[in-house]
Amino acid sequence: MQTVKELQKNQQESIYGNVTTQFEKAADLMKLDPDIRKILATTMNEVVVHFPVRMDNNRIETFTGYRVQHNSALGPFKGGLRFHPDVYIDEVRALATWMTWKSAIVGIPFGGAKGGIQIDPSKYSKEEIQRITRRFTFALGSNIGPEYDIPAPDVNTNPQIMAWILDTYFSTLPPQERHRSRHVVTGKPIESGGCPGRDKATGQGLIYIIEEWAKDNKFDLNGATYTVQGFGNVGSWAARLLKHHGAKLVAVEDITGTIINQEGIDPDELAHHTELYGGVMGFQKAIVSDHETFLSLPADIFIPAALHNQITSLSAPKLNVRLVAEGANGPTDPEGDIILREKGIDVIPDILCNSGGVIVSYFEWLQNKRSEYWELEEVDCKLHKKIVNAYNCVKNIAYEYCTDWRTAAYIVALSRLQTVYKERGIFP
Ligand code: NAD
Repeated sequence: MQTVKELQKNQQESIYGNVTTQFEKAADLMKLDPDIRKILATTMNEVVVHFPVRMDNNRIETFTGYRVQHNSALGPFKGGLRFHPDVYIDEVRALATWMTWKSAIVGIPFGGAKGGIQIDPSKYSKEEIQRITRRFTFALGSNIGPEYDIPAPDVNTNPQIMAWILDTYFSTLPPQERHRSRHVVTGKPIESGGCPGRDKATGQGLIYIIEEWAKDNKFDLNGATYTVQGFGNVGSWAARLLKHHGAKLVAVEDITGTIINQEGIDPDELAHHTELYGGVMGFQKAIVSDHETFLSLPADIFIPAALHNQITSLSAPKLNVRLVAEGANGPTDPEGDIILREKGIDVIPDILCNSGGVIVSYFEWLQNKRSEYWELEEVDCKLHKKIVNAYNCVKNIAYEYCTDWRTAAYIVALSRLQTVYKERGIFP
């Protein structure tokens, strides 16, 4: 049964509706087989769990969690867990579907899934978050597993939360099986089986993509200006890595507010500040600004790295940039996309641009399975190869079909899935 919040949300907007619009455009253009189209247009499994947790004040609260598994034709389900008050079934469905496309584009043997808990984590103590995480993991039970469905961090979840999930999952297994199951989650702390470079992987992948775009467009990143929305894992790492190219961060926006400095904001100093104070507000070397000014500020590159539906028919006309490199999932809705195209702004779509996270998650999963440990240089080198390869595939398809990069990225993914379904057929 839908909650009131879900009903209100559904009336406002459907993020899954955005996925459907994008999917249908690509499926029409590539003439996707109508039977395969039916399969890919729906999710495979949708799990909703309601579970009780004891709070610090000794009272019980109940929570709602989700895990949606979109497709596993290419491999086990894979995708992050989000802790956010707006987590609801439509959103999780969309995020799970994007994961299927993402893994297919970069050519890793995973399907797509996503999950989360409808919760504002800032309202709970660390101990409460631990108990909520553990009880959610227990409630999911065998709906996750190292060879079946592998969660990872997303908004408001981190390596510590992954370690708690791992420990809870371990505790439900016979002792002999525990150490064969470390790959039940990725994005773990290094000591618990994590992979060097997983923390920066999404930002790192995004920068490798921007480097390719800059080469193709004969654009000098040295001295270029950029703005970032969301200064968490993805946004802060992207900003810090772009600094090494001599680019200048001129504005940042997060849940606490907007800051601007045309002379440049040091991303490392800002990352240190947000770690201490939980957001960009209060950073001394910039002035406080507002959302409208942030949107219309002239810059070369805009990196949305917060939530979905930020670039819409209302905000897209205000953007004054050359490139939107999508770090967040679904930051641009279909109307926003059309406006950016009309304005001649290049868009590198989320399902390609933020795929560094799932690529390095795959490396972590492989290392756990093989009891191996790779050095950071090896991880970065393999990530670079995979993501640049995917970039070139999408570029070639965009050229071949004379279409935008988002549609081209979908065509790459859908073609791979179509091939697999045609080879294997449908049981029975
Ligand atoms: P995070 O929790 O580390 O950071 C989220 C950031 O967004 C924070 O700075 C927060 O203040 C900001 N934010 C939240 N609501 C906002 C609002 N209304 N306006 C402006 N800023 C707001 O999350 P993350 O892991 O960095 O994920 C960010 C985005 O990137 C999400 O869309 C996520 O799905 C996507 N993504 C993450 C990964 C990953 O590896 N973590 C991989 C691929 C895609």
